[in-house]
Amino acid sequence: MGKINRRDFFRSSVAGLGGFLVLPALDHRAEEGKGEKSKGQKKFLYRNLGKTGVKLPVITMGVMNSDNPNLIRAALEAGMYHLDTAHGYMRGKNEEVIGSVIKGRPRDSFFIATKIYLPRDESSGLPRETATEQFFLSRLDTSLKRLGLDHVDILYHHNVWTRDFAFYEPALKGLEKAKKDGKVRFAGITTHRNEPEVIEAAVESKFYEVIQIAYNHRQKHGPKIREALAKAGRAGLGVVAMKTLGGGQRNLEKAEARAALKWVLQDPNVNTIIAGFTTFDQLELDLSVMEDLTLKPAEKSLLERMKMTAGLYCQGCEQCLQSCRQNLPIPDLMRGYMYVYGYRNLIEAQDLLASLNLPSTLCQDCGSCRVKCASGFDVPARIRDVVRLREVPPEFLSA
Ligand code: SF4
Ligand code: SF4
Repeated sequence: MGKINRRDFFRSSVAGLGGFLVLPALDHRAEEGKGEKSKGQKKFLYRNLGKTGVKLPVITMGVMNSDNPNLIRAALEAGMYHLDTAHGYMRGKNEEVIGSVIKGRPRDSFFIATKIYLPRDESSGLPRETATEQFFLSRLDTSLKRLGLDHVDILYHHNVWTRDFAFYEPALKGLEKAKKDGKVRFAGITTHRNEPEVIEAAVESKFYEVIQIAYNHRQKHGPKIREALAKAGRAGLGVVAMKTLGGGQRNLEKAEARAALKWVLQDPNVNTIIAGFTTFDQLELDLSVMEDLTLKPAEKSLLERMKMTAGLYCQGCEQCLQSCRQNLPIPDLMRGYMYVYGYRNLIEAQDLLASLNLPSTLCQDCGSCRVKCASGFDVPARIRDVVRLREVPPEFLSA
């Protein structure tokens, strides 16, 4: 087989089906870890995104925490052509910055995913009246405008944690119409907790083509996720993994981050990781993971040791909910805490807090706290700490 350079390869791969180019067969070598590289080039490994007909590098860019156009540009130039964003990230600036970077580039040289979050009651998870198909589609139009595109590659129904919400009609109809109008290629769904239920719902729906899930070595329900992903794999769903470091890159040593990423990629049903790097060093590190995915015994031990610390990752297990006297949405508050200390993404944390309809005082009058966290978090201390962000004027945090 003749040689093909990486740029040509990803342009043909990213196009996939839907009237675009046919995939070259070379990828199989790369997929099996036998890809050749010339001097100065890094090895890339690719996997199929379910049965979409698209191949993606196994590590790509979750842009959520970065508004640095040079970093996004560097990721694209390196070959990480899948950029993952959301309508709400950085209050829209995330999509705008991506739009400025991709402007003028051939449309088949990048693959863009964004997400629309439908308003809901955060404690019950039930949709609010404003969560309509029209709302969904108008958000999509705004996202397309910010990105400067006439279509995105994946549009996700964002942050779903129940089966019922996975089947929520306005979201399904919105996705269907957007596809019909040529504004979206693939319909997706994302989940940050209760992942097995949502994955199974996505499989059952025969509608979603891609799922994005939180997946990392810290999850106590990891075996259940793995089982559900096997079903997703058999059904041909594309699987994108997020939160793969289990609490952000900021507090990790390089060896820890490398081991955590490799751990996720041991699951053959994961097609790509969206890594949330925010520095060029982290980008380099994430690229280097593709040199060799083998998880060595020392790395396995390292992961085991990491699991023995409380860390920043909330399991979303909801074991704390019943015992809280104020009925607080503790998993969301812990996620906000992780955004602050793991991601240094204060805007995302503040927006999350604002969406939770919290009382004005929290964790002040309970005497002793009855909540026992499965991860060993000092829940009230973390809550008191993170809610201080509510006092910061939003414009002080604007990117
Ligand atoms: S201290 Fe906070 S977390 Fe604990 S029971 Fe009271 S309100 Fe709930
Ligand atoms: S018990 Fe701890 S880990 Fe589980 S959802 Fe509550 S805060 Fe998160």
